[in-house]
Amino acid sequence: MKVLVINSGSSSIKFQLLDMRGEQVLASGVVERIGEDLGKISCWMHPGSSAQSRVEKVEKIADHQSGMLKVGEVLCGGQDGVVRSSEEIGAVGHRVVHGGEAFHQPTVIDEEVVAAIQANIPLAPLHNPANLDGIRVARELFPSTPQVAVFDTAFHQTIPQRAHIYALPYELYERHRVRRYGFHGTSHKFVAGECARLMGRELSTTNLITIHLGNGCSMSAVEGGCSIDTSLGMTPLEGLVMGTRSGDVDPALHSFLERAAGMNLALIDGMLNNESGLKGICGFNDMRDIHEAAGKGDERARLALEVQTYRNKKYIGAYMAVLGRVDALVFTAGIGENDPIVRERSLAGLEHLGIELDVDKNNRRYKEPGALHSGSSRVQIWVIPTNEELAIARESMSVLEETNH
Ligand code: AMP
Repeated sequence: MKVLVINSGSSSIKFQLLDMRGEQVLASGVVERIGEDLGKISCWMHPGSSAQSRVEKVEKIADHQSGMLKVGEVLCGGQDGVVRSSEEIGAVGHRVVHGGEAFHQPTVIDEEVVAAIQANIPLAPLHNPANLDGIRVARELFPSTPQVAVFDTAFHQTIPQRAHIYALPYELYERHRVRRYGFHGTSHKFVAGECARLMGRELSTTNLITIHLGNGCSMSAVEGGCSIDTSLGMTPLEGLVMGTRSGDVDPALHSFLERAAGMNLALIDGMLNNESGLKGICGFNDMRDIHEAAGKGDERARLALEVQTYRNKKYIGAYMAVLGRVDALVFTAGIGENDPIVRERSLAGLEHLGIELDVDKNNRRYKEPGALHSGSSRVQIWVIPTNEELAIARESMSVLEETNH
């Protein structure tokens, strides 16, 4: 079966078409700058194979409807297309950011599911409307193809109350569903499964700390395959230091800034999401720029690196305490997969907890999974490239099989 994976954002649609026999990527691309004067569609056909080709078009893309039409055209178009017609696509899997408390599993999309995703818009006002646009248009374009929603929050629905309830008036939870939800769930679940497989163990008896460090960052305590705590909260702002997001701050910050700097809530919200994190400290949000600047003696860049890796270490310690026995730590996403310095600093001084890096292994480059622990480390340490598209495609397939579609 061929599965089309859609990640629809406010001004972009990322897509990947996979042939699930052999889990091969047939095409992968992005429609960007939807709604602007000039948009762009880029698509790799058969990426990684000797027959790969690239399509790139620059033209106005008025809305998600025309964006999805372009996706259909490049995938099915002429000799370059990877399918003859959209009929060949057996399922469409959608990434949906916020499933609230309603969704614990990937779910076949119907009107009720659309309404439930809509009901969660207040919890993810930037993401869920864009995800819904993608769903609406894909359902119109592929009316007879089953569509599945795969939620970023679903994997974390196993987090017990003691870890997901904030110490606020309980009515806020009852009336407004204020609680920790967690995000990056598809990635945490994927690398946890892969890690157990690579360790030759049953996931159900393995305890892991999964560390997703990309532009967004989060960490999860995974007990026997179930998330029992995670660093992102009600929104994707809490926890670790991210590219432009602050992570943990004192909740009194808002009222202080209102009084001291005359800032209103919208300004503070924008600042915490877009102008903070690594960027806030040193001006750069890309870790490669930070290393370059730090290498040239930029003290703020060094500080940003120190603040981020210190926070990582603090959360690893917390999740060691939560899990009791930890079998492995797993690094993933842009920084986690590629940055030996961040990994080393995040784990420095944790030898007393049984965490020992092998420096040579840590310094190698990893396109495939690799083990980084020393021979005497009690806790294994892995790099496992995340693959959210493949995870969404697999989950879409399995929910369709379970529901006999
Ligand atoms: P992601 O959100 O997973 O795509 O990760 C994006 C981030 O990964 C970028 O903003 C960089 O900070 C980081 N990154 C990507 N490649 C490297 C690299 N080779 N070394 C260090 N950081 C990297």
